[in-house]
Amino acid sequence: MSKKFGQNFLISPSARQRIIDSLRLQESQRVWEIGPGIGALTVGLLESNAHVTAFEIDHGFCTILREEAFVEISNFSLVEGDVLKTWPEVYQNEGCPDVICGNLPYNVGSICIARFLEKQCLSERMVYTLQKEVGDRLSAKPGSKLWSTLSILAQIDYEVSPVCTIKGGAFFPPPNVDSVVIQMQKRANPLVPVQSRTLFLQVVNDLFTQRRKTVRNNLLRGKSGSMFTREMLFDSLEKAGIPESERAENLDFPALLSLVKALSTV
Ligand code: SAM
Repeated sequence: MSKKFGQNFLISPSARQRIIDSLRLQESQRVWEIGPGIGALTVGLLESNAHVTAFEIDHGFCTILREEAFVEISNFSLVEGDVLKTWPEVYQNEGCPDVICGNLPYNVGSICIARFLEKQCLSERMVYTLQKEVGDRLSAKPGSKLWSTLSILAQIDYEVSPVCTIKGGAFFPPPNVDSVVIQMQKRANPLVPVQSRTLFLQVVNDLFTQRRKTVRNNLLRGKSGSMFTREMLFDSLEKAGIPESERAENLDFPALLSLVKALSTV
């Protein structure tokens, strides 16, 4: 067991069942599982007749998965190595799976999810077990201290909501913090039109650079400040009805969209 790879096995059968149920798997769906460990969740996925591609970094676990746990299981395939490096090739060759799930270590979880979203690898459904703080950020709402670039990136394409909290004791070894299971259901239509997406994400990045600073200061200091004149930025804030002294954490999707619309027409 290695701390470095965030290895805490989910040993609670009821928590495992809860996660499997929340995936709402249908016959023969293609599923990616990130960090299968020695297969606690994988068993449930295979029992649902899903076609599972599992991404695991630990070579010892990979040997167990390949040579013992799922030997000769035709609907199981293993991609050995760091998922952050291995997934793009699988995506390129096989396209996006129907479902993505994983019990992810905190240092990989948010980066992995952000990469899938940025590269538009958008499965119909994703369910992640994450350190509570990361999960709460994904599902945060405007006005909350946790409303952030990650919440916004995720909620453009997905309805994000918590399924349940999992206490440390459900894992072995028990981590110091609680975890949360987060479900992400793809929206029929993204909240941001495809043609505005790049500018939208850049403006959001700028706005959240320093949470304590006003939207005015963050925009001026960010990339937007080099793309637009001060007047253009101030006019656009005014057109969008956003006070210059506002903080980014209070801006919801309609406000952000109005600002980006105003900026694209200056
Ligand atoms: N899914 C198992 C369970 O629920 O019992 C194990 C979960 S454990 C919290 C996280 C798993 O992710 C470990 O098996 C670990 O080796 C794997 N892992 C950590 N970093 C990884 C990475 N960058 N790429 C792929 N797997 C990774």
